[in-house]
Amino acid sequence: MAQLSDDCFAFSGPLLRLEEMERLITERIVPIAETECVSLHGARGRVVAEEIKAPVDLPPFDNSAVDGFAVRHADLRADGDTTLKISGRLMAGAKAEDALKAGQAIRIFTGAPMPKGADTVFMQEDVMVTGDEVTVPKGLKLGANRRLAGEDAPAGSSVLPAGTVLEVQHVALMAALGLAAIVVRRRLKVAVFSTGNEVVEPGAVRGGASIYDSNRFLLTELLERLGASVTDLGILADDPDTLSRALQDAATAHDLIITSGGVSTGEADYVRDAVKRVGNLVFWRVAIKPGRPVAMGVVKATKGDGGAAFVGLPGNPVAVFVTFVRVVKPLLRRLSGAHPDVLVPLPVRAAFPYRKKKDRREYVRVALKRRSDGEIEAVKHPQDGAGILTSLTETDGLLEFPEDTTSIEPGSRVGFLSYATLLS
Ligand code: AMP
Ligand code: MG
Repeated sequence: MAQLSDDCFAFSGPLLRLEEMERLITERIVPIAETECVSLHGARGRVVAEEIKAPVDLPPFDNSAVDGFAVRHADLRADGDTTLKISGRLMAGAKAEDALKAGQAIRIFTGAPMPKGADTVFMQEDVMVTGDEVTVPKGLKLGANRRLAGEDAPAGSSVLPAGTVLEVQHVALMAALGLAAIVVRRRLKVAVFSTGNEVVEPGAVRGGASIYDSNRFLLTELLERLGASVTDLGILADDPDTLSRALQDAATAHDLIITSGGVSTGEADYVRDAVKRVGNLVFWRVAIKPGRPVAMGVVKATKGDGGAAFVGLPGNPVAVFVTFVRVVKPLLRRLSGAHPDVLVPLPVRAAFPYRKKKDRREYVRVALKRRSDGEIEAVKHPQDGAGILTSLTETDGLLEFPEDTTSIEPGSRVGFLSYATLLS
């Protein structure tokens, strides 16, 4: 269960800035403590629970980086070619039994251990072999084409801090270090439901004024991509009793409950009231566009004194997407024990003028194009409504306009976040 105090999001003020929200999350949310051991297969996306140190040197022994001839650098003439006697062959996986003596070279292959005495390797393309002799040119540096034991990671060194979210490259490093299993935090258990009398299941019969549910699918995919274990609680009607009961039931077995819709100030927006009945609602307006109405809080479990964190997202799918990546993701990472995600927007040129209000962060859906001068230009999608799903499928990512910006002119440098970055 999430360790949350009732006032963990306590906030007073009209609009909560994103930095402030991130600070509150870091300060007040206690990550889940439980860990489990997982094998390398299936470790991707999981959060490292304890710092990982290299149990062995990587690579484990000095070896050749190329196919060629290993030599003693001290034997080489500085003023011209050197001819050495070939003393043997060393394939990858073979043991280097004998030390290389003065005046000798050994035929060696990539990954084979360096024999004692040898410190430098000539590439086979650069030498001339005549019978049992090899002639090598002058000028190769001491240690060339040799990989030293531990040059990648020395035994005992810290290779992954606790809180690392395992990506493919981390899994490869663990494998190279011989670690077959890793201690990770358990997966977060997240319950998702949609709200709205007009919302129906895709595939079901749709009445005249109904729309198919897209948010639950969007949220489930986003959450699973981030390693959460998701319970799909379906679509709930706009009814405070139904909503509060569903929230309370979900709080017992989940760390986090996410809803969409019903958090605005419309007459059928009952989600905030429902949360207040069975827990605490602590802030509900974030200085972000699209997406402003975002509710956060805690729902008490029916049994025990635990509870689940709660996030109520807006109903419009694009607002769901943006608030998920900028509000839910930091919360998820914190709850799961992961380091905060540092997003570095890439500089591109805006192809359009833009005006915005001060004091809120705005996200604009754009497609990237390369200009004839080589610069990368961001073209705004023609439709910017928060309900336009094709504005997400027809673009490459979001421009992020900071709080203090009020106007953008065509050609100005702006920050771009790709969907790939935002979703990982
Ligand atoms: P609300 O905040 O509940 O008023 O919802 C705002 C808009 O989002 C309305 O047009 C809803 O029909 C729409 N909406 C709400 N939930 C969903 C959903 N699960 N999938 C697609 N659209 C939704
Ligand atoms: Mg609604």
